[in-house]
Amino acid sequence: MPEERTQHSEDSKGRTGPQELRGSVATFDRVEEGATAIATLSTKNHEVFESRVRDRSHVCLACGQASVHRFLYRKNGCDILRCEQCGLGRAETMGFDPESYYTSDYFSGERPDGYADYIGTENILRREFAGTVEFIRKFRASGRLLDVGCAYGFFLHEAKRFFDVSGIELAEDAAEHCRRSGLNVFTGQADETLLGRLGTTDVIVLLDVIEHLPSPRDTIALLVNQLDPGGIIVITTGDFGSLYSRVAGAHWRLMTPPQHLWFFSQASMQAMATSLGLEVEHLDHPWKVVPLSLISFQLTRMSGLRPKRIAISNRLGLPVNLFDAMRIVLRKPSR
Ligand SMILES: [Zn+2]
Repeated sequence: MPEERTQHSEDSKGRTGPQELRGSVATFDRVEEGATAIATLSTKNHEVFESRVRDRSHVCLACGQASVHRFLYRKNGCDILRCEQCGLGRAETMGFDPESYYTSDYFSGERPDGYADYIGTENILRREFAGTVEFIRKFRASGRLLDVGCAYGFFLHEAKRFFDVSGIELAEDAAEHCRRSGLNVFTGQADETLLGRLGTTDVIVLLDVIEHLPSPRDTIALLVNQLDPGGIIVITTGDFGSLYSRVAGAHWRLMTPPQHLWFFSQASMQAMATSLGLEVEHLDHPWKVVPLSLISFQLTRMSGLRPKRIAISNRLGLPVNLFDAMRIVLRKPSR
């Protein structure tokens, strides 16, 4: 901002212009104006200075560059930064423990940042997941399928009509719900120990999960090892480069740290996939049928009121596309 700098240097030199010769009243006015101007400018400069300090350097997990991460804003006590190279967003949190966070409260409307009523919207979610299964079958018609972060198993129940399915879920209640409904689901994080107990697989899905992982790159790298050559990883997540995300800033519907820790753009997804030896086979922004209860829950939350459950709207769904969420198919090359 060269204008500001020029003005500032003039101010710091003191006001010695010809106006001062026009009388004491005029001089007094000028001094007062000057003082206000200096105060305003120094506040501005302070902000510029502070935001520069808040920018920081990180090795980006998506593009692998040691790059400047621009400070964007603070949300829910977390600094939100963006890699200047690839556009990956990150939330810097202190002492966030996912194991104590993803409990049954999270899925039952007890927490404003969670789901309105996950189990209550099973019908709508399953219809949506049936569509996702159809989509996946265009890339892989059958075989073994692993759902990482499978919640209550609704997707797995749709997928098991075509695939030999298993799942991993961190929330004990949800994992137990899956097992009671006959699914092969393990409780825990997708780490080496747990994955070691599962065999290799043809399809791995992470549906709205990658943004929650403490270290998505490490997890995807482990999952790549788990994948047979020619197999695919299907990811859904927000698009941080989307118009809606950029316009809404801190108010973006998916900007919910510390629940969401990572905000991928198309470029950052591409960069991470390539560096892990995967090919981006498909990327789009799909339409989605969303339970009306979740829409009203999120709208209420955005309006600053405490969200409440509305029983009737659990049965209704609306097709929605804000083009701010993406679906990606990554393929591990055949040998
Ligand atoms: Zn990056």
